[in-house]
Amino acid sequence: MNAGSSSSYEQPTVKATKFRNVLSINNADSVDDIHAIIVNDSDDSNLLSSVRRRVQISSEKITTGSLNVLSAKYESLDYDTCENHLLLDEERKKGYKYIIRKSISRWLVFLLIGMCTALIACLIDISIEELSVIKYASLSKNVDKYVTQGKLHVPYALWVLYNVVPVLIGALLVAYGEPIASGSGIPQVKCYLNGVKIPRVVRIKTLIVKSLGVICSVVGGLAGGKEGPMIHSGAVVAAGISQGKSSTFGKDFGVFEFFREDHEKRDFVSGGAAAGVSAAFGAPVGGVLFSLEEGTSFWNQGLTWRIFFASVVSTFTLNAVLSAYHGVPGDLNYPGLLNLGKFDNFGYEFFELPIFLIMGALGGLFGALWNHVNFKITVFRMRYITSRWLKVMEACMVAGVSATVGFLMMFSINDCKPFGQDPTRYPTQLYCEDGQYNVLASIWFQTPEESVRSLFHDPPNTHNALSLACFVLIYFFLAAWTFGLATSNGLFIPTLLTGAAWGRLVSIGIFYVFPNSSIVHPGKYALIGAAAQLGGVVRMTISLTVIIMETTGNITFALPLIVTLIAAKWTGDFFNEGIYDTLIQLWGIPFLHWEPPPLVHNIYASEVMSHPVVTLKCVENVGHIVELLKLSTYNGFPVVDPPLTDQSEVTTYGRIRGLILRSQLIVILKRKIFNETSDDWDNIDVSIFRNEYPRYPTIEDLSISDDEKTYSVDLRPFMNPSPYTVLHSASLPRMFRLFRGLGLRHLPIVNDSNEVIGMVTRKDLARYRVWRHRGRMGVEELLISKE
Ligand code: ATP
Repeated sequence: MNAGSSSSYEQPTVKATKFRNVLSINNADSVDDIHAIIVNDSDDSNLLSSVRRRVQISSEKITTGSLNVLSAKYESLDYDTCENHLLLDEERKKGYKYIIRKSISRWLVFLLIGMCTALIACLIDISIEELSVIKYASLSKNVDKYVTQGKLHVPYALWVLYNVVPVLIGALLVAYGEPIASGSGIPQVKCYLNGVKIPRVVRIKTLIVKSLGVICSVVGGLAGGKEGPMIHSGAVVAAGISQGKSSTFGKDFGVFEFFREDHEKRDFVSGGAAAGVSAAFGAPVGGVLFSLEEGTSFWNQGLTWRIFFASVVSTFTLNAVLSAYHGVPGDLNYPGLLNLGKFDNFGYEFFELPIFLIMGALGGLFGALWNHVNFKITVFRMRYITSRWLKVMEACMVAGVSATVGFLMMFSINDCKPFGQDPTRYPTQLYCEDGQYNVLASIWFQTPEESVRSLFHDPPNTHNALSLACFVLIYFFLAAWTFGLATSNGLFIPTLLTGAAWGRLVSIGIFYVFPNSSIVHPGKYALIGAAAQLGGVVRMTISLTVIIMETTGNITFALPLIVTLIAAKWTGDFFNEGIYDTLIQLWGIPFLHWEPPPLVHNIYASEVMSHPVVTLKCVENVGHIVELLKLSTYNGFPVVDPPLTDQSEVTTYGRIRGLILRSQLIVILKRKIFNETSDDWDNIDVSIFRNEYPRYPTIEDLSISDDEKTYSVDLRPFMNPSPYTVLHSASLPRMFRLFRGLGLRHLPIVNDSNEVIGMVTRKDLARYRVWRHRGRMGVEELLISKE
């Protein structure tokens, strides 16, 4: 339904008496009953006609791969601090010493995040390097040995084996060990920072599988890189260290308890993601900007400082360790995993800017095509490659195909160059004359990252146009097929590689038209092509410009890069969303973008909200709470004064007194803090909630006796006494900004008498989405699926 269709809507004058149907959970026997009441209410002529019902549809009715369905299974994180009495008591008791301790601990945690992220990056890098040396040296030797004997099948079989075995291990780990560790992990981290709880995304097991998985994928020769996974690893490291405990291993170190809440953890995770970028690219500023551009909705000066600190520590630690590993400990020449080499001698002329602009637009076009191809493949996978063994088989198949196409290219295109032109590591002679080596073999017999470096820095005329064109075509589709496999690998490197190859092709074209032009260095065009292609796929602008600038160490290129990336983004956006946003939509995650959809000021809270609201009283019956938690799936309940019924039998709504979360109710029930039995208030403080965080028991895990069900609980010390609320007449953009800016989870809607008449959560807002297609634009309202 187009939200614009509500333009004839008149702002409602909501009076408490107009709503007579406060949902009484006591009268509902099952979830179905609750839904029945909700649906019946919507037929009630006394209700505002414009109050929309949430339409939940069962998963069978949804076509897999639909982009306009939100999944109800994703819960939100609560970034708003619950300032309940327990928290205030803690502040009062502990005083300023506590604040200073907390603040020092915070810096310490960011330091540890930077160091640990870098150490993991080093481990991954060194393992990949060592294993790749063995693999490619052996391949290069065997090709030259068997080619003279005419036994080409031997090196081919060897290559397939060297690819398939590591990929098989990596895929088994991911598919059977931890599926959330597949891919780059950037969309998941993005969602986490946006406020969506993605199950198991920041667990230690995910980190282990991710790190081993990425080593296997890169060594296995997949068209993937280690940079994206590094960002995910940084996020997991941050989430782990900052909590001072591991739920997986059941170990509590008794430190950093004050950081055990969503808000604090989110800040550390943004630091971890930035440290990951910094380690991956040697780009500390790029890391900070990445966290800003891609994730964190809430930003302040203190946080910027700390994130920058973690990023710098990360790149420094990585530099120190890798320099020592490469035998030059004092040199500090290895700031990031991705080393694109220095672009010191490259400049550009004004007349080249339009060329860069066109290349940017081309990148946007190719990027949009790449996203489309990858989207189609992902949908196919979601429909047909569902079992774990099929996923493993697919990964092995791609590994085999990668070796096959490389082999075919190498043997069918005889692109020979004399030794010494290109600093290739394993010069393979193949069918070339003595003193020459096969250029394509040298591209394939190295990690994709080294290939990017070669394309950037190989002297002019190293590659001929035909081999580059074939390489672009093959790598484009190979990378699109690889991204999304059940393996841990990112898309930065294959995308840069594709872009660098067509960028070099452009330079060959320009050189063909202007043979005397001395300014056209292919490396420069490879860089612009790489940036354009990456920009077209991921659609990041600021962070990508800075990351590339930092990685290449050339500040002069800021303008060409930003021109290219903006052109790529705009062109790409004309056709579809960036790849991360496409995946987020495909998974049905209720993601809130930076801005609300345009032209929706005429949609009011009273239309968006759910109604009636399931509420609780300040002092509530235990049995009632237990039933409520069993029957409903809601995670937040407004706490209200009991509704009153006047003489004309019209029931009012309860006036808002606070908001309590399901997790809090569970902890209260688990601890049995009942008015009738609990008088030990000295032992009740915020730590009872922190100890259970983040994996709270479910209501089914608790045992409450029949006697206890007759008791009552005073919710006032535990609830958030001042939740953010808005009036029924608030517009959708206003609610959106409040939600996005403050990282809210529940937003009760009140009437003029401050009585709760509705509830808005992230899903209610995320379901209004901008829709773009080939330059046309609108707002669509998404369906919500139960799964
Ligand atoms: P989340 O899943 O975001 O952690 P939640 O489980 O409380 O929070 P959602 O799953 O987002 O809520 O909500 C699903 C629908 O239920 C939304 O349309 C929301 O407005 C509605 N809703 C949430 N809480 C209540 C409540 N206490 N009473 C009535 N409706 C509610």
